Amino acid sequence: MEPEVIRDKEAMRRWSRAMRSQGMTIGLVPTMGYLHEGHLSLVRQSLTLADVTVVSIYVNPGQFSPTEDLSTYPSDFSGDLVKLAAISGGKVFVFNPSNLYDYGGGERKKVNTGGGRVVSCVEEGGGLGHETWIRVERLEKGLCGKSRPVFFRGVATIVTKLFNIVEPDVAVFGKKDYQQWRIIQRMVRDLDFGIEIVGSDIAREKDGLAMSSRNVRLSDEERQRALSISRSLAMAKASVAKGQTSCVELKDIIIQQLVGSDGRVDYVEIVDQETLEGVEQIKSGVVVCVAAWFGTVRLIDNIEINITL
Ligand code: AMP
Repeated sequence: MEPEVIRDKEAMRRWSRAMRSQGMTIGLVPTMGYLHEGHLSLVRQSLTLADVTVVSIYVNPGQFSPTEDLSTYPSDFSGDLVKLAAISGGKVFVFNPSNLYDYGGGERKKVNTGGGRVVSCVEEGGGLGHETWIRVERLEKGLCGKSRPVFFRGVATIVTKLFNIVEPDVAVFGKKDYQQWRIIQRMVRDLDFGIEIVGSDIAREKDGLAMSSRNVRLSDEERQRALSISRSLAMAKASVAKGQTSCVELKDIIIQQLVGSDGRVDYVEIVDQETLEGVEQIKSGVVVCVAAWFGTVRLIDNIEINITL
């Protein structure tokens, strides 16, 4: 049975409150659609944690800068519904709003984009009066935040909006987007949201490539070369198991693999799992994070390494 689709935010909130009044708990899985097994694994996890699950499908203009791939972001809404139908058991509902930054009646005003001010597609589109943004100030700065300055501001803001509209008890995020997961966890702690945040393991293709909606934009040849990401992460982990603890050495192994496969490295970082601060020598749990371009596609991946010395 295909999931019911709710498009209006007031209707979404009414639905949610009606569920709660019947004593049901609500899980939320925020997505941008073009669902794959990685997304579905989060939905399955949410179904074990709450009575009903809302999957939001919304490509958020607030997290894309005007030069990024908002307009070419892949979508297949009817295919998404078919995939969800297969696992829903009548317990999955889809929230698919049209524009969560349009508050009605607002006249588009030109936003001042001068003075080196970094803006997202929300402001660049002329804005619709939206001017409130959530920033998780330190955690958002490193890793992906370096090359995508409005990204986490946009993510934290849209997730807050979804939390306020859906009012879930629990929300599931993929560790594929490790920094995003940690930022949402921190935001929920710092702002006292009454929502449990769960991080779910990375789903991979059989050959190791981390599943991503962007993978369809890789040519066969680029996809083959992109396997160097997961391969190099596994090599780094194996190296730690053999006693290597120097992060310079470990990063070198990864960079060599990526560059040897004609990848353009955005970053390779080894950071503390919670603070996301860079580590020089591995002494406790770290996460090794990679972002690299293959052709015109920027891919991210990571691996957690837990050691006790
Ligand atoms: P997206 O649609 O890319 O915004 O992703 C929606 C959610 O799915 C985020 O919490 C992602 O971290 C998660 N996700 C995406 N790909 C994977 C994957 N391969 N494994 C686990 N979670 C994923």
